[in-house]
Amino acid sequence: MSFNVDSPPEEPPAECQHRLLWRLARALWEAHRPDSAGFCVATGCWHTNQRDPCRLAQLAQEGMRTACGEATPASPPWIAVTRERLAAGDIDPVDAVAEALWHHRHARRAGR
Ligand SMILES: [Zn+2]
Repeated sequence: MSFNVDSPPEEPPAECQHRLLWRLARALWEAHRPDSAGFCVATGCWHTNQRDPCRLAQLAQEGMRTACGEATPASPPWIAVTRERLAAGDIDPVDAVAEALWHHRHARRAGR
């Protein structure tokens, strides 16, 4: 990994081939990342003595790792969500092209 999962950059890192997925996961991270005191910053998700990232923050980290080519338990749902957004055209054209190429390669690797 060329990025720190505990402090991921806003823009996708160089090895990221799944830019839209990165942006979706990064947005989720932004909402649930731990703050300087070690708590999830999301309203309603915060609780005291929370040392580790909350479940959604961990899901976001798995999404960002998926975007960089790593297979995680959360990869299939992240890919499914990203495909829905892609189908809806709800993304930047540059990202759309990158995503289309990524899915093309991913589908071939999976034998579909
Ligand atoms: Zn949270």
